[in-house]
Amino acid sequence: MDIKSVGVVGAGQMGNGIAHVMALAGYEVKLNDISQDALDAAMARIEKNMARQVSRDQISEDDMTAALARLSPTQDLPALGGVDLIIESATEREEVKHKIFDTLAPHLAPHTILTSNTSSISITRLASRTDRPERFMGFHFMNPVPLMQLVELIRGIATDEATYKTCLGIVERLGKTAASSEDFPAFIVNRILIPMINEACYTLYEGVGNVASIDNAMKLGANHPMGPLELADFIGLDTCLAIMNVLHDGLADTKYRPCPLLTKYVEAGWLGRKTERGFYDYRGETPVPTR
Ligand code: NAD
Repeated sequence: MDIKSVGVVGAGQMGNGIAHVMALAGYEVKLNDISQDALDAAMARIEKNMARQVSRDQISEDDMTAALARLSPTQDLPALGGVDLIIESATEREEVKHKIFDTLAPHLAPHTILTSNTSSISITRLASRTDRPERFMGFHFMNPVPLMQLVELIRGIATDEATYKTCLGIVERLGKTAASSEDFPAFIVNRILIPMINEACYTLYEGVGNVASIDNAMKLGANHPMGPLELADFIGLDTCLAIMNVLHDGLADTKYRPCPLLTKYVEAGWLGRKTERGFYDYRGETPVPTR
């Protein structure tokens, strides 16, 4: 199927990046959010990020002008109904996502493909509530979207091959690479990455190493560009804990039990970079380990 127009629902951290790469790749993009402030902030961020790409000669001034002209922000969700593809990237709460698909339902064109950028909600369950589970998929981008090469494509139990092939074609047109994942908790990247971060928390909790030695060990000993605790602060400790809980609940295996120290940091409101404190304290000139 030839996709020309895309509706992105949710203009937060991920939604603005998705709208950015879609518009640059030549798709007409309608960007929706319930908050006008979020839409204004997203458009400003997209313009700033594209201007940076121009200054680095990654795109031309004309590419940027044309991409911005293809973007239209709107608070009117039904206005997205006529597009070829919907990418839902609103707040990670299941009832929010159900309501978005319910609201869109009477306005959708028969051919429209529905997708969700959810990190943890079952694609099969989201799809089952719509009138088109065979044309429903997980379209999972990595953060920050313009920089990260991978997109996970997740087939629900009912997703048909044509929908998968169409989404694969879009990922290729974005110049990105797809990893195909079955619909099980946390998919592939987070299924592997977040338990590694949780294990780093246990290593700290049990006193095997301190923050600096754990991060240095993994950077220099395993060639990781960031240490696991530094990475946890970047992702957000609340997000890491939420994903561990999804794995623990969804796979019913005690090997996924969240580390009590991770829970303690979240209880303290030490969520990482976004609150200026996590495994490191970011309030000064350079980050200082908190343990
Ligand atoms: P965010 O909080 O930055 O943005 C969410 C946006 O959704 C907000 O602007 C909010 O106003 C909007 N919203 C809420 N309800 C809405 C509704 N009914 N209709 C339209 N808009 C609505 O969140 P985010 O980090 O961009 O995450 C969005 C989705 O992407 C989530 O499903 C999340 O799991 C997924 N995701 C996040 C990351 C990440 O690293 N942050 C990575 C991959 C996927």
